[in-house]
Amino acid sequence: MTIGVWVLGDQLCLDQAALQALDPNTPVILIESLDHVRVRSYHQQKLILIWSAMRHFAAELKTQGFDLTYSECDRFEEALQTWIKAKGITELRIMQPADRPFGQLIADLTLPCKIVIVPNNQFLWTEAEFKTWTTTRKRLLMEDFYRESRKRFDLLMDENGKPVGGAWNFDKENRKPPKKNDPTFQPPAAQWFDPDEIVQTVTQKVQDLSQSGTIETYGTADSFGWAVNRSQALQVLDTFIETRLSTFGPYEDAMVTGQDTLWHSMLSPYLNLGLLSPIEVVRRVESEFKSRNDLEINSVEGFIRQVIGWREYMRGVYALTSDDETREIPYAESNWFDHQQPLPDFFWDSKKATMNCLKQCLDQTERTAYNHHIQRLMILNNFALIAGYNPQEIENWFHSVYIDAYDWVMQTNVIGMGQYADGGLLASKPYASSANYVNKMSDYCKGCQYDFKARTGKKACPFNYFYWDFLDRHRTKLTTQGRMSFILKNLDKMADGELEEIRELARSWHEG
Ligand SMILES: Cc1cc2nc3c(=O)[nH]c(=O)nc-3n(C[C@H](O)[C@H](O)[C@H](O)COP(=O)(O)OP(=O)(O)OC[C@H]3O[C@@H](n4cnc5c(N)ncnc54)[C@H](O)[C@@H]3O)c2cc1C
Ligand code: SF4
Repeated sequence: MTIGVWVLGDQLCLDQAALQALDPNTPVILIESLDHVRVRSYHQQKLILIWSAMRHFAAELKTQGFDLTYSECDRFEEALQTWIKAKGITELRIMQPADRPFGQLIADLTLPCKIVIVPNNQFLWTEAEFKTWTTTRKRLLMEDFYRESRKRFDLLMDENGKPVGGAWNFDKENRKPPKKNDPTFQPPAAQWFDPDEIVQTVTQKVQDLSQSGTIETYGTADSFGWAVNRSQALQVLDTFIETRLSTFGPYEDAMVTGQDTLWHSMLSPYLNLGLLSPIEVVRRVESEFKSRNDLEINSVEGFIRQVIGWREYMRGVYALTSDDETREIPYAESNWFDHQQPLPDFFWDSKKATMNCLKQCLDQTERTAYNHHIQRLMILNNFALIAGYNPQEIENWFHSVYIDAYDWVMQTNVIGMGQYADGGLLASKPYASSANYVNKMSDYCKGCQYDFKARTGKKACPFNYFYWDFLDRHRTKLTTQGRMSFILKNLDKMADGELEEIRELARSWHEG
């Protein structure tokens, strides 16, 4: 029997399951497929990151002694067939892809050998463990899962089995608005890297493909500075721990013009590619907390919750819902509010955006392929939700533009958390808010042509009239969501004619 291993582009880790317990010289292949990137208009930086990281990882595998093949082709199948024949492979081993559509692509391959899928070990919880955990619950709650994770991995637990700091969650301390016009509000510089030879070659390839129309892309490659191998990813982790972790918590939800990353870790691209493992990241953070006296529990706990709580939970719910054959429609096609408005052009071209909050976030996406969590959730998703854009178009947009986007993290974050299109399976109420929130948590409103206080009139902020229009349009459905009753009552308190004007403003926005 000759075993060969296909390493997928987001499985770039020497410890990954398919590479374990193999003879030296085992044939290993990595494949750059053009067909695969034609599925949507990916951000140029996303393509540069993945292909550069794959090439770096291929070089690392070669130095480990593997019989390495690196293929650039149109279709995965053609590269695999040629390689399998050339190497006389009888068993193709692949680590289970995190993304279900990729799993289907593998299942549909016609190859002259057996395919063996080994369980994915890039997450803290296996899919089977997560599913077993859910069978013990009446309803899914991230907070319950998070506490279970803390105990299971013995993270931030004291000797009596209680949470360090006396509470499980310090989120209330992590919602400080930015200090507007305060010169002491100085986020540290982000860790970027000069493009090495591999990055330069791949950038040229992506730009040539894009310019020739072979593939459609989004955004610019100009400022590419992402880490492309494990050693650089470890430097980003070091920088985060040294310069950002101490203030990670308080300003986690803040948004400031010209400050793209604030105190966020920027680790998601590397965790999602396998360059860093979630357990090494959280253990490092915990051990710094134990050995330093400048780190507060709200920052450390807040960060650890994102990784062992939210990240694992989103992936667990993705696996659960994707495999649930009792669902009437696939999770990815959910549309609880029946939102059908097409996504406007300005999402693809920030210059066309008139609302300053959206313009700032979209301009940043084009330049960097990155927005932090609150920009994604409370600006872009929130607006798309209240304006009634189609959830599947929004999901496609998010999937196309972000440096860290994959199907497993996209469905639950966009369809579930952002759009509430699953009818509340994941979130206990829709993340919908008016301009008040934007004004409180950012400096965007002060540079905007709209008035954040107005919900009617010429300068009415679209966040306001869409918010009330959303509540009005979906009043019946939202009444069934207990946490919305209080806010819905405010619709009845509106002055005569105000609601009609709000509806009219919303209608005319869509009519252009
Ligand atoms: C609408 C929407 C779309 C998103 N799309 C993606 C995506 O495509 N890829 C992605 O990795 N994350 C996504 N997230 C989650 C989160 O916004 C990003 O992980 C985070 O902004 C990445 O930046 P960071 O590494 O600086 O994060 P930090 O703020 O430093 O957080 C630390 C880590 O926590 C993890 N994390 C936190 N929240 C989540 C979450 N909800 N789901 C998964 N991981 C989480 C990430 O690994 C992140 O690196 C999305 C969230 C929303 C609301
Ligand atoms: S006024 Fe409205 S549109 Fe303008 S930045 Fe504020 S929330 Fe956004």
